[in-house]
Amino acid sequence: MNESAQVVGVIDWNRRAWTRWRRARWIDGNGPFALLAHCDVLTVTLHATVEEAEKDKATIKRTGCGARCLNSHEIVNMRRRKNGAEEETVHPIALDL
Ligand SMILES: [Zn+2]
Repeated sequence: MNESAQVVGVIDWNRRAWTRWRRARWIDGNGPFALLAHCDVLTVTLHATVEEAEKDKATIKRTGCGARCLNSHEIVNMRRRKNGAEEETVHPIALDL
């Protein structure tokens, strides 16, 4: 792991997404929030913010993501590690006072 050598903002999320979802038909855009459509074939759209990803998810729910949409759509935060910790801060942390 050489993650610490990377600077926030220059991470190539598209490339990372390809290493994570090798079977994807296509992966479009860039950003840590991946909108996955598991319908028919796997397609992935990357977004800079979770809000954009949610908006896109709502759109493809209405319109369908492709010819055979099963409404099997999922947002994955690629910054989120398996242990639940954020790789980098996405949103300002709300302090529990
Ligand atoms: Zn779909």
